[in-house]
Amino acid sequence: MYDVIISGAGPSGSKCADIIAQKGFKVALIERDVSWRKPCGGSVNKCILDDYPQLLKKITVQKINGAKIFSPAFDIIEEKWDEDKFGLIVDRLEFDNYLRDLAVDSGVELFDKNVSYDFIIKNQQKIGIKTRTPSGTKEYYGKVFIVADGMSSKLALRSGLRKKWNISELSMCKCALFKTTNLADDHCIDLFFRSSRGYGWVFPLGNDIVNVGMGIVGKDNLEFNLNVEFEKFKQQKYIKDNFLPDSKNKQLWCEAFPVAATGVVKKIYDDNIMIIGDAAGMVCPANGEGLAFAVRAGKRAAEVAVNAFEKEDFSRKTLKEYRLNPEIKKMIRKFKIDNLAAKSFNNLIIENHKYFYEKINNDSKLKRDLLELVFFQAKTSFRLQRFGISTILKKKFGLI
Ligand SMILES: Cc1cc2nc3c(=O)[nH]c(=O)nc-3n(C[C@H](O)[C@H](O)[C@H](O)COP(=O)(O)OP(=O)(O)OC[C@H]3O[C@@H](n4cnc5c(N)ncnc54)[C@H](O)[C@@H]3O)c2cc1C
Repeated sequence: MYDVIISGAGPSGSKCADIIAQKGFKVALIERDVSWRKPCGGSVNKCILDDYPQLLKKITVQKINGAKIFSPAFDIIEEKWDEDKFGLIVDRLEFDNYLRDLAVDSGVELFDKNVSYDFIIKNQQKIGIKTRTPSGTKEYYGKVFIVADGMSSKLALRSGLRKKWNISELSMCKCALFKTTNLADDHCIDLFFRSSRGYGWVFPLGNDIVNVGMGIVGKDNLEFNLNVEFEKFKQQKYIKDNFLPDSKNKQLWCEAFPVAATGVVKKIYDDNIMIIGDAAGMVCPANGEGLAFAVRAGKRAAEVAVNAFEKEDFSRKTLKEYRLNPEIKKMIRKFKIDNLAAKSFNNLIIENHKYFYEKINNDSKLKRDLLELVFFQAKTSFRLQRFGISTILKKKFGLI
């Protein structure tokens, strides 16, 4: 019998498990496959170093101090940051396993090759979970359950906390790692807006490796085929010339995966259960960033679980603290605004990129606000919101 069972040993689950185990509780961390590299750009805010201060020493991390954002016609917004302001690029397989190992060091029991698919219910209460393993089904019993198994979570659906995602809530993404040569600047990330909503990226990982990917947002997936668009993206002259010169690049890995980035689901807790990270839609709608938010949610859910054990009360009344936590509340609010901002900016960039790029490049404050939003988790500023809304209105009335 475990105190806490966590399904999914991604960043949210591992962080949550780590903290609960450090407090002396018995934690089972259930994972489908520790050798799976989650498709991801691997761009992570440097605030992650507050939680993982040894990260730079323990795994390969590329420091980023600049960015370029291209329009579909290759207009460009470019920025370099000061020394103290930087982003990080990680390889997800290395990153996830580092976080898992730390949780195991704290006393967490990690069960690999276990696919959780349902709860065990007794007297209308969740008392365990069922998993499929290569050698048959298994049952794990516990008091509190944390759903951290990502956007395709079966337990999230079985718990009734959320419904299946609708295509309009999903971005379909595909990314690949390439061994390449002649990178002009391996401390700069490049984003590329395209004719479908969403963006493409090239992120340097160090050691002559780049992460190349793209996403298509919502209903545009009905119109555009991800595989075809990804090929087109890689074949663009700029990408080929700068990142993937024909004879010299080698694809090391490639996979497609969706992300749900329209904001946090309504219900994130119930009697003896909480849902965290991607399983709960905790991904920023403005840029698809979810790693730092997943870790943050894992921490907050862990604190609430520990508090519930102190009170010996695992009811929704106690677990409500998770939803009421100021950081979680702030995240939910921020994503709501970012979702609106992302929609208007995506339309603007696709339909009026020349106007958009000119405006942003001629207004340093606007440019700073936009880059802070995209790269540093800043709120959508009033100035930026006004720019987006007024431009949409002007466009509607034929003024641009
Ligand atoms: C293509 C793409 C690019 C992205 N780029 C970025 C980026 O550059 N920066 C950023 O911050 N965010 C990015 N994100 C979002 C980021 O990947 C997620 O927000 C983050 O991984 C969420 O962490 P998590 O632990 O909640 O979920 P996940 O990382 O999805 O972890 C879930 C874990 O649960 C396991 N699992 C799944 N189902 C089961 C099951 N039934 N039973 C047991 N285990 C299961 C999985 O194997 C996995 O280990 C990107 C997402 C995608 C799809």
